[in-house]
Formats: sequence, C-alpha cells, structure tokens
Amino acid sequence: MRYSRQIMMKQIGESGQDRLKNSSVLVVGAGGLGSSALYYLAAAGVGRIGVLDYDAVSLSNLNRQILHFTSDIGSEKAYSATQKLSSLNPEITLEPHVVRLAEENAEELFSGYDIVVAAVDSVSVRHIINRTCVRLKKTMVEGGIEGFRGMILCVKPGITPCYHCVYRDTFLDEGAVGVVGATAGIIGSLEAMCAIQILLGIDRELDNKLIYFDALTMTLEHISVKRDEQCPVCSGSAEP
Ligand SMILES: [Zn+2]
Repeated sequence: MRYSRQIMMKQIGESGQDRLKNSSVLVVGAGGLGSSALYYLAAAGVGRIGVLDYDAVSLSNLNRQILHFTSDIGSEKAYSATQKLSSLNPEITLEPHVVRLAEENAEELFSGYDIVVAAVDSVSVRHIINRTCVRLKKTMVEGGIEGFRGMILCVKPGITPCYHCVYRDTFLDEGAVGVVGATAGIIGSLEAMCAIQILLGIDRELDNKLIYFDALTMTLEHISVKRDEQCPVCSGSAEP
C-alpha cells in the first residue's frame, strides 16, 4: 500500500501526504529534542530530512536521546540517527551532516531545506540558527528544555517575532541544568507537530505564541509574544 506506513488521517488525506513527501526539514541537533522530533518527522513521511550534529554518542546521552543505543556509543550522532530513521522509513531521503554549525556555514547548510528545526542545547547556536533563518526568510521551529519545563517558538521571518525578539540573550540551557528525558521527548514531539502543521499549511494557532509546557502540572500554555521593532536581527524584515 502506497501510504500504509504514514498518517492517512481524514484531515490530511493523500494530498497532505504528498505535500509532506515533497517537503524537506533540517533538524539541527540529534540529541534529546532531535531524537523525538526526527522520529516523528520520518514516521510522518517528510520526504527529505537533514540531520545536523557534529557530536558523538556518549553514555550520559542515553536517558533522553532515544535514537541512540548503547551499541552506538562513540559513533557520530548524525549517522546513528539516520541509520535508525532509514530503518524506520526506507521511503524517505536522509542526509547526515557531521559538521559544527557556525555563522560561516549555516546559510549554505540551511538553504536546501523548507524548514529548520532547532533542537540544540546551546544559546549561541540558537542565535546563529535564528539569524540565518531571518536572513534566508526561512521558517524555524525552536524548542528548549530545562528540568521539568519546556518551550516552543515558531519563527516566520517578517511575520512573527524572531528568537531574539522573545528571548534576547537569555534562555534555558539543557547542558547546564539537566533534564528529565521524557521532557525532551514531549518538546521534541511538539516541535515535529509544529513543523508538520507548517508544512501542511494548517498552523493557524502557532503564530505569535510561545508554547510553554510544565511537566509537573502537566499543563500547556500559550503566551502571546510580539515583534520587537528595535530587534537587531529582524527589524526591517516585515512583509510589505
Ligand atoms: Zn527579532
């Protein structure tokens, strides 16, 4: 069956599934957030998925980085991830990028993809992804976690606030504080859901909202966010 492994919900149908098949997503980071985001993007049938990560799998990653197994310790995460994802869905194209993201290489790496999903634990890398996506006018889905809480922000350059408008120079940092693995799974899954909605053009509820999840109370909140007219990254990028 042509679509037997994918969604085939009434709301999506064959045309939606074709749309996903003809789409491409770059996931920056194949760690805790990236593992669940990548799994659901591949399972949904997104036709081309890039996995960008220069790091190798270590034992301390395994509580949350569910694409990597004990036997992968020492292997590059980008290869470990694409290997699992191609077993899950051999009908899609997977592109590992074993490279450290920097201001100098980001534009070239991002330019071939429809959407960039940021699944990293570094504030400075988030800013690089944000600046590059604003320059390229490319949609970015950003997620972050800390302990029992997490946040998601969808950035559409020229339409919504960018990452800098909302967070300035501060944000949760997974590496510094530590996380419960399931929190990464939930936020990564929500990032995949946002990306799928954007690819399908059914993302009406996502604009100008920060999605905040509290695992202790099991609540999800929408917090309204605004563009900063003085933002050094995105001011001047408004749609005419
Ligand atoms: Zn901005």
